[in-house]
Amino acid sequence: MVRPKTEEEIELLRENAIIVSKTLAEVGRRVAPGVTTKELNRVAEDFIRDHGAIPSFLGFEGFPAALCMSVNDVVVHGFPSDYVLKEGDVVSVDCGTLYKGYNGDSAYTFPVGEVDAETRKLLDVTKASLYKGIEAAVAGNRVGDIGYAVQTYAESFGFSVVRELEGHGLGKEMHEQPGVPNFGHKGKGTKLVDGMVICIEPMINAGGRGVYLARNGWAVHTQDHKKSAHYELTVVVRKGKAEQLSTFDFIEKDGAIRF
Ligand code: MG
Ligand code: MG
Repeated sequence: MVRPKTEEEIELLRENAIIVSKTLAEVGRRVAPGVTTKELNRVAEDFIRDHGAIPSFLGFEGFPAALCMSVNDVVVHGFPSDYVLKEGDVVSVDCGTLYKGYNGDSAYTFPVGEVDAETRKLLDVTKASLYKGIEAAVAGNRVGDIGYAVQTYAESFGFSVVRELEGHGLGKEMHEQPGVPNFGHKGKGTKLVDGMVICIEPMINAGGRGVYLARNGWAVHTQDHKKSAHYELTVVVRKGKAEQLSTFDFIEKDGAIRF
């Protein structure tokens, strides 16, 4: 049984979600050819701390940075590094905060300069699959309805769903129950209850769904080394329609970034 959050807890989660959303936008406006992922990580860490929050990923099970920075064939959990972003790359940025005892967690995949049409499609479809998942995150549905919605949408474009990683509940802990897979069957899994706070985070591959773990024990790569995309938002399960806590508005309403 997953305990729904109280309205007071939801307000604290909302504050975290806004800090995370704004951090992603701060990073996004600096994504460009010639920039290192380490520089972007520093921008995020400073922004998070300037807002009185703690970068929750830093030190989590030994993770070395504030952000996961996953370039091209890295699905998730890449380390920020001296790698210099180049035109045509994609970089998935996953950000977590701890603020007033609660967590924030969202992710966005940014194109670096101009990307080819197939890559642009991968980004658009992955983000749209997230919104399909959110549409299914209503009270009375089950977790499998979310996964089904994400999977059927992404696969209808010939892309594939990473199955080894999933979304999750969010609260005082960064990862709470229920797990929220990006594939599944309608009507299966944990029942969604009003007030449940979950992160939905499709990881979609341009090629096959196979992945492997890098030798550093963190970075997850696509087996075929084709690109992967990752978008994540935090929502409250409500009756009729989920309520978004985090948002991409800070990113997408900034005209400085091309989409
Ligand atoms: Mg995340
Ligand atoms: Mg997450």
